[in-house]
Amino acid sequence: MSTSTMTRDAVTSYTMTAIEHMRSLETVIDQDLLAAIPKSKREIIVEVPLRRDNGRYVTFRGYRVQHNDARGPFKGGLRFHPTVDLKEARTLAHLMSLKTAVMNIPFGGGKGGIACDPKQLSTRELEQLTRNFTNLLGDNIGPLIDIPAPDVNTNAQVMAWIVDEYSKKHSQAWGVVTGKPLELGGSVGRDEATGRGVMLATREAAAERGLNLKNSGVIFQGFGNVASFGARLIEQELGAKILGVSTSQGAIYNKKGIDIDSAEVYYRQNKSLRGFSGGEWMTNDELLVRDCDILIPAALGNAITARNAGAIKAKILVEGANDCTEAEADRILLERKVFVVPDILANAGGVVVSYFEWVQNLSNHYWGIDQVRKELERIMVSAYSNVSARAQELQTCMRIAAYTVAIERIARAMILRGL
Ligand code: GLU
Repeated sequence: MSTSTMTRDAVTSYTMTAIEHMRSLETVIDQDLLAAIPKSKREIIVEVPLRRDNGRYVTFRGYRVQHNDARGPFKGGLRFHPTVDLKEARTLAHLMSLKTAVMNIPFGGGKGGIACDPKQLSTRELEQLTRNFTNLLGDNIGPLIDIPAPDVNTNAQVMAWIVDEYSKKHSQAWGVVTGKPLELGGSVGRDEATGRGVMLATREAAAERGLNLKNSGVIFQGFGNVASFGARLIEQELGAKILGVSTSQGAIYNKKGIDIDSAEVYYRQNKSLRGFSGGEWMTNDELLVRDCDILIPAALGNAITARNAGAIKAKILVEGANDCTEAEADRILLERKVFVVPDILANAGGVVVSYFEWVQNLSNHYWGIDQVRKELERIMVSAYSNVSARAQELQTCMRIAAYTVAIERIARAMILRGL
């Protein structure tokens, strides 16, 4: 079994464990209905054509999995990465349904992308590929149907191309995607949203565990959107030290703390953190097991495995990336009493501000940054405390508690709708 297959199984296995725990809840929900929750409603596979700059005609496989829309339109990102396939999209779409439900925002879950390496494509090729993919998705996406957003290797520019292409056949519809540029109906605060949500989840978890953040050290695996905003906010707003960050090439670690601003400047200039004088250079695997109080994987999935879970020094693990802990690793962490804040809670800040963006698009009334931050904090804190209360009630970990909250909400919506 490949590593990625094992992690894909993890989400379904957590779902099954959560369903078992739900038997002891006051209101028992039909087990057959619960057992159907991991299944996706619709899975779309398209062959996306592209004329390369050198004149050659090639195709790339594109996917959109629409997992569940009982609570509202499908919602979730599009990633452009060589590992994208149907199974990955299926798992991540399932996670999105759970994430929107645990945050109690009116969406279901979807995910997709194109199996490609965007680093090998020119800007013109990337634009054409995105436009062709949008056309192939046709009426399967839409502001009240399925609303994609940025994910790994996609950004506001990619969302702008989708809006433009979609609007050629439909009326001007900003609400078809979120994570757009501000000039095209984007929301202030969307760029920092996932990092800010990770900061808030970290704050709540530290308070619950009695950890004084002022004396704490935090390691981020990653240095992209989530990690760079998250690290800065954790430093500035919580007063903790950032001890490590990493890119796909390698990591830097300094037990006295890393100056994030200089690391960022260095990374921009050198396209690598190697050689940065403010920290020791090492592999990603080495970084994960270095001394720290809080570890935040915020890169791709599969970071925490049965191989490294036993050596992790952190007391708290905050899942900034989706599906980043294998099921076996999760068992080891639980045994070792590492407190895990699961992805569907910890990294939900992005989709929450996506929700605000969509609300602003539909109402054509735009919010200020203070309102976005205040509302995000309200939703994150309330979701965290719901999950924490459920964990107490069921005497289980935060992940299974979050899954039970989410599955219960989805199941109720399905029953009420009579699906
Ligand atoms: N891709 C992000 C996630 O995994 C954001 C999704 C969205 O905003 O719809 O949560």
